[in-house]
Amino acid sequence: MTTSELKNKILQLKKETNTVILAHTYQEPDIIDIADITGDSFFLSKKAAEIKAERVIMCGVRFMAESVKILSPETETLLPVPSATCPMAEQIAPERVRKFKEENPQAQVVAYINTTAALKAECDVCVTSSSAIKIVDKLNAPEILFIPDQHLGSYVKARLPHKNITLWDGYCPVHAQLTKEDVLQCKKDHPTAKFAVHPESPKEVVELADMVGATSEIIKYAKETPGEIIIGTERGVVDYLALHEENGERFIQLSPEKLCCEDMKKITLEDIYNCLLGKGGESIALPEDLRKKALVSINRMLELG
Ligand code: SF4
Repeated sequence: MTTSELKNKILQLKKETNTVILAHTYQEPDIIDIADITGDSFFLSKKAAEIKAERVIMCGVRFMAESVKILSPETETLLPVPSATCPMAEQIAPERVRKFKEENPQAQVVAYINTTAALKAECDVCVTSSSAIKIVDKLNAPEILFIPDQHLGSYVKARLPHKNITLWDGYCPVHAQLTKEDVLQCKKDHPTAKFAVHPESPKEVVELADMVGATSEIIKYAKETPGEIIIGTERGVVDYLALHEENGERFIQLSPEKLCCEDMKKITLEDIYNCLLGKGGESIALPEDLRKKALVSINRMLELG
């Protein structure tokens, strides 16, 4: 079957089976092309809660499929490739959070949305990279533990010096590889370009940026800012901009060899097709008590954000 025949079969099958395909912006362009809704992880979860579908196929990594299930327990949620996980989402064991809370009963634990459902269930509130500063600033606690990303955490901490924030030592293995030299070399090659970066990147890289933001904010900035833009996040963002914008060549990928998330790229059109045929993927199941606890920290994020 050719790629275009496969895409047509997927489009036909999703209609017949009342299935909605969600795709994170980091997915390959062919997957973005057949998806009903594209965006960052939190936007997709919220959309999944709004739409009425029998089944959702989440093209992303496991914590994203879990977020859909937390918000839409009645919807069958499929992850096309069960091994597609975010390494950062599991860099702290839920038991460690429980122990920290026992030892520090006055403290609050803030979990980046890129965490497993089991971790969200142990935390007080979730944040996204775009809402983290606003939400942490509103917390009334003598101590705050920010998990798991040390880079996003230190970005937040630097902007809220009046807060007592303890950081966990987790990191995104994709963004954490970036160095100051990568940026300086790219700026040398594109001297008039603006630089937009994701806050999961190290401080020395973030300090060189004209704009720091979540995936959706980087896309908005790149669309609205004239001239060349160096994009310091997973390379799916540049693919997405090239697919949706004229003059796609003005979007410059920083370190394309480093900024590729292997887990995000595991899903293929064949995997999605097999899900639709009922022959592949994993249907996400969460114990109800865990789901409800995780929902509390997501709802608190919605309230405070
Ligand atoms: S880019 Fe980083 S944070 Fe995002 S899914 Fe991949 S490893 Fe996780």
